[in-house]
Amino acid sequence: MRGSTRQLSDLVDQARRYGVRDEAVLEAIGRVPRQQFVPRRFALAAYDDGPLPIGEGQTISQPAMVAMMAEAARLSPHDCVLEVGAGSGYGALVLRALAGRVVTIERRPALAEKAQAALEGHGLGDVTVVVGDGTLGWPEEAPYDAIVVTAAGPAPPTPLLEQLAPGGRLVIPIGPRYGHQHLMRYTRRGQQDTHSGGNGSPGEEYREERLTPVRFVPLIGTHGFPGRK
Ligand code: SAH
Repeated sequence: MRGSTRQLSDLVDQARRYGVRDEAVLEAIGRVPRQQFVPRRFALAAYDDGPLPIGEGQTISQPAMVAMMAEAARLSPHDCVLEVGAGSGYGALVLRALAGRVVTIERRPALAEKAQAALEGHGLGDVTVVVGDGTLGWPEEAPYDAIVVTAAGPAPPTPLLEQLAPGGRLVIPIGPRYGHQHLMRYTRRGQQDTHSGGNGSPGEEYREERLTPVRFVPLIGTHGFPGRK
């Protein structure tokens, strides 16, 4: 296992090069065995810092990007987190290493099933995998301290904004399908930050920050892009 240990630390170095400074995030990247989340034929590329195909036209995200999103979510050990787009399950386990509870939702049942199997037995804590349209969130476990979306949507889905706890963060790539997108963070103001009685206008209730240019597969669903046959 010496080889793979060395390679895992390469991903940590790469995340640092992308500007990730949160030591807990870097440690999480160094603990999650990415090799176990990629198809066997790509095992040798698991510790290259790039996206890889996982089937059904989808990809496991680039580790440095997973690290940037986890850092942007500003997680604490007791946080309850929703991930939208389980894919391989890799990102969910990185989030789990940083938070108290993680639910990940995937619209493609075959991927959800594989993710579920890949997520078992790492000793980093349980992750709940559910199947459904993540643009509707997962109201059963709301509110969330953070919601991390791993596919790009045209706008932040209203149900996700609504399922944030006060002070909660929604981290999501926004932009056109397969075009130039930006990683955005929407932070719901805490009770102490809202001066008015709150007329519900999103401009007041959420702080919007544009973080970095990114490229993600499309978020498909009721509050995302329309699906293709
Ligand atoms: N976090 C994943 C990245 C997967 S790529 C990983 O670490 O491997 C994005 C995933 O989002 C794909 O699996 C895609 O099927 C899924 N997806 C797209 N739209 C979705 C939606 N509305 N709800 C849930 N999952 C969605």
